[in-house]
Amino acid sequence: MKTKKITVAKGDGIGPEIMDATLKIILAAGAKIEVEEIEVGEKVYLAGNLAGIDKASWDIIRKNKVFLKAPITTPQGGGYKSLNVTTRKFLGLYANVRPCASLHPYVSTKHPVMDIVIIRENEEDLYAGIEHQQTDEVVQCLKLISRPGCEKIVRYAFEYAKQYGRKKVTCFTKDNIMKQTDGLFHQVFDEIAKEYPEIENEHWIIDIGAAKMADTPELFDVIVMPNLYGDVLSDVAAQIAGSVGLAGSANIGEECAMFEAIHGSAPRRAGQNMANPSGLLQGAIQMLCHIGQTEVAEKVQNAWLTTIEEGIHTYDIFKEGTSKQKVGTKEFADEVINNLGKKPSLLKEVVYKKNVVLNLPKYVRKEPAKKDLVGVDLFVHFSNYEVDDLVKLIAILNSTKLELSMITNRGIKVWPEGFKETFCTDHWRCRFKPTKGNLINKNDIIELLISAYQHDIDIIKTENLYEFDGKQAYSLGQGQ
Ligand code: NAD
Repeated sequence: MKTKKITVAKGDGIGPEIMDATLKIILAAGAKIEVEEIEVGEKVYLAGNLAGIDKASWDIIRKNKVFLKAPITTPQGGGYKSLNVTTRKFLGLYANVRPCASLHPYVSTKHPVMDIVIIRENEEDLYAGIEHQQTDEVVQCLKLISRPGCEKIVRYAFEYAKQYGRKKVTCFTKDNIMKQTDGLFHQVFDEIAKEYPEIENEHWIIDIGAAKMADTPELFDVIVMPNLYGDVLSDVAAQIAGSVGLAGSANIGEECAMFEAIHGSAPRRAGQNMANPSGLLQGAIQMLCHIGQTEVAEKVQNAWLTTIEEGIHTYDIFKEGTSKQKVGTKEFADEVINNLGKKPSLLKEVVYKKNVVLNLPKYVRKEPAKKDLVGVDLFVHFSNYEVDDLVKLIAILNSTKLELSMITNRGIKVWPEGFKETFCTDHWRCRFKPTKGNLINKNDIIELLISAYQHDIDIIKTENLYEFDGKQAYSLGQGQ
């Protein structure tokens, strides 16, 4: 087994304690790793670096390609950017993999037979972080979903299921409402599922899917979903399996990978030898599998299961009656080390498949579709709140090619034939379509905008309406 150099960040709060415990355990189990440590997080932020990481550390992460990271504290306010989100996106770590299995009867759970893996898209969706205030009353966040993003994550989920002997992949979206963004994710799921006929597939609308998962997680196996839903539901899954303190996650990209606990830096518990190192240890076990040291991973996981089974628990999972001994971080790590080589008796012993290779071809760009401009939405800041007054104002606009076809407020149609009961804000969308028999181009939109400017109409943004290969590629107004 070749020694692999890995980047390690000990993080903040309980980070250094749980990282020391984790490294001690995996090294005792025979992990062939060389640690190169970097400083990221609170100290770097407070020294004035808003990203929480400096260039030299990026270079080390990119050189070693494998990064084991303890939780860090992001200072509140002050424009500090989440290092986690930045790392995932800079390094293209598109797949977030979180196994959540219950440890019944040793860790209290309502779900004794739960064993699911949540595979969350990790780079896009509302996490693009593109937000704007546009009027006094309205702010917006752009939800971006791409075909490459969907294909990569969905394929990853099916490959993962295939290679790890999982039977079913479930997709969660809200495509009954977000027909284009979540609709694309669902459509790609259906396309790729056809390539894996041996794996069962199903789709649930996220709200009822989430409720089902929280109620009967034994119905699920691998679940794949867009970023925000995955963020929320992977914490729910970890918590109902036993505790968020027990779960680790892998962030996988085409070149680099980052492994971590799913919990935060728990600053109130720092420096007291109380924290549970299990979440980070689970991340480290995923890392060992990733770098091909499966036998070491197996040995650590079985020793950890044995320790849990012996009832040797840190305070967060300690329960009178079930647990036997409450221990600190260091003592827990020492007990896992004592158990190296042992197998759990009631919990299922793990046997990891060796040399797993997921077949993940590079994304192949598609032929561009024929794209036709068929209208424009002008978003207007208008604080009079009377739609009829807005219609009169818009009527002043000078365009022979474009005419007003609809106005919505927060997505609901308010003209023509709106309801007086609809509550309106100062943020209006005015949809313009070509006048009869006319084709339009960008210049027609520019003329409309110039006319709006000349008449003091406050256009805050525009969205072009397109057809791709003759298919309408924008949503209708609600109630249209
Ligand atoms: P947290 O996960 O740090 O703590 C939530 C609760 O769980 C606390 O009661 C804490 O004591 C307990 N807890 C968490 N991990 C534990 C462990 N290993 N052992 C025992 N108990 C544990 O969440 P928070 O309080 O919302 O956030 C604290 C800080 O962590 C914030 O600055 C946040 O930005 C950061 N954070 C970092 C990451 C990361 O780096 N991956 C993730 C989430 C939060």
